[in-house]
Amino acid sequence: MTYNYEEGLYINGSWAKGVSTIENINPSDISDNIGNIAQASIEQVQEAIIAARIAQPLWEKTPLEQKLNALQKIGDELIQRCEELGELLAREEGKSKAEGKGEIYRSGQFFQYYAAEVLRQIGENAASVRPGIDIEVTRESVGVVGIISPWNFPTATAAWKIAPALAFGNAVIWKPANLTPASAVALTEIISRSGIPAGTFNLVLGSGATVGDALINSKDINAISFTGSVETGRKIAIATSANFVKCQLEMGSKNSLIVASDADLSIAVEAAIGGSFSGTGQKCTASSRLIVLEDIHDEFVAALVKRMAELKVGHYLEEGIFMGPVSDKAQFDSNFKWIERTKELGGKLAFGGEKLSLEKEGYYMSPTLFVDTKNDWDVNQEEVFAPMACVIKVQDLDEAIKTANDTRFGLTAGIITSSLKTASIFKKSAQSGCVMVNLPTAGTDYHVPFGGRKQSSFGPREQGSYAKEFYTVVKTAYQRPY
Ligand code: NAD
Repeated sequence: MTYNYEEGLYINGSWAKGVSTIENINPSDISDNIGNIAQASIEQVQEAIIAARIAQPLWEKTPLEQKLNALQKIGDELIQRCEELGELLAREEGKSKAEGKGEIYRSGQFFQYYAAEVLRQIGENAASVRPGIDIEVTRESVGVVGIISPWNFPTATAAWKIAPALAFGNAVIWKPANLTPASAVALTEIISRSGIPAGTFNLVLGSGATVGDALINSKDINAISFTGSVETGRKIAIATSANFVKCQLEMGSKNSLIVASDADLSIAVEAAIGGSFSGTGQKCTASSRLIVLEDIHDEFVAALVKRMAELKVGHYLEEGIFMGPVSDKAQFDSNFKWIERTKELGGKLAFGGEKLSLEKEGYYMSPTLFVDTKNDWDVNQEEVFAPMACVIKVQDLDEAIKTANDTRFGLTAGIITSSLKTASIFKKSAQSGCVMVNLPTAGTDYHVPFGGRKQSSFGPREQGSYAKEFYTVVKTAYQRPY
């Protein structure tokens, strides 16, 4: 399917041009411009907000099965077209075709899950302390929701917000990242045919500084759900609290994977490979710190380096690649600054650290591993967002857990161990929203809550039935029957 990206805004049920366009460059081949993408004006953002305000009460009152059918239709189509749409996503984001396909499939599952959730809106009754009075506790839609999403999982992060927002009767204004607008147009095109009324769902493409800023400062929006960096998240928390707008922020992290002395070496190596380098390391759940017990350190590093040498980096369409390119030039340049910085600090480069020249010109780099690093170095405290991991050697489990928790972030944390006791101690003491035992730090299910602690998350959890905390408001009704 081809799209008219120059008319890529979707406001009040119609496609529209913006006030300008930007190019959408394929990071696997920078001579390939995927399209010239419409950029919305502030006035167009206001139009979308007005349309959403009008449509929302009608959508909230729409019969449940009609809502369910719309969400089911979107989910089914995403799954049916995951090959084609996954390729488009990979072309603009840089992940492999297989990863792109997996992301679209998972996005379809989010819509299917929340289609069913439409029927699970069950309230509670309570007895009153005053005789003869009935109490009902029910949930209603929060209203108009602004959704601001990142480029690294452009369709999945949006799907896990849009699907529950619509399921619980809200109207949506979606602002995706400007690096990945084509996937946003493709998802919107599917939503536009799902049967939801005009104005219920709107797409406004543009930069964070213009379109994003207009959304987060609006007094006519009831809630903002955001996934992205801590820096942007902080701006959103400040702007929304000034207007008492509800907000939910999922942000960066600095996840750790502990390799305990009794770890199965092959499980440890595969968890480190998957957690640190899949998605070109551009995952909020990536294991960028590998905390390794002294007595298994040398053996683990040798086995990991051997496995890293087998990882194929290439163009998103090439069969058998493990890693595509970095998403854009700014991220690519930043990665090499971090590599130089880690060398300056005294880290020893154990593998990679190179720019790669392949047949097509793109932002290719090798997976990179540093050893002999310290947890208090900035490279181990700041989110780098690169296919790069730093090994930190520790003496015992106690030091490993203290090191893992010694961060301002707390999204995921993992341990590789064959001891039930060690696993139990770790699960209880890790200060993160998700903990993994004998699994990579990246990779979660879609029907259970997802989110972090400390500066990784702010506000109610996302996903599963927990999403209703954010997308609904509670009403307590008292009634004296006649
Ligand atoms: P980013 O913060 O730069 O941008 C995210 C979104 O916010 C984009 O749509 C952007 O245009 C918008 N934005 C930027 N400035 C804005 C402003 N002033 N007002 C309103 N909107 C604004 O993040 P990114 O580079 O797109 O994504 C990478 C980050 O996302 C990483 O930190 C990563 O860890 C995080 N992330 C977190 C999760 C999670 O669930 N915790 C998942 C994926 C990515």
